Amino acid sequence: MDCIFCKIINGKVPVDKIYENKQIIAFCDHHPQAPVHQLILPKKHIDTLNDLTVEDSALLGSLIQTASQLAEKAGLAKPGYRLVFNCNADGGQLVFHIHLHLLGGRPLGWPPG
Ligand code: AMP
Ligand code: ZN
Repeated sequence: MDCIFCKIINGKVPVDKIYENKQIIAFCDHHPQAPVHQLILPKKHIDTLNDLTVEDSALLGSLIQTASQLAEKAGLAKPGYRLVFNCNADGGQLVFHIHLHLLGGRPLGWPPG
């Protein structure tokens, strides 16, 4: 399958890895939109949020929990941060393997443009 994130998971494409366990990997986004911009994703390939099933509930919980731990490690717990899933064209999704963006290190503003 021609998925850049699966290639990263399989070690075929190098990244600045931050965290990994059996189910999840996290690495730095290579075009950061904030001083801290990390991507947290399941090793299981899932195209979009629309493709989640009830079997993925625990995995999704682990993703969010991992992201909040990485935010804490990055010193973002107190100042704050944002977790974002983009879905399909209007959501700005470019890579069709679900991933959580962890953004922080500056005031992010709301609503997004
Ligand atoms: P999205 O628009 O939500 O699909 O986000 C995809 C993100 O993946 C973008 O922020 C890209 O900068 C990031 N990205 C794509 N390829 C790589 C890569 N090889 N290493 C690190 N980040 C990547
Ligand atoms: Zn994939």
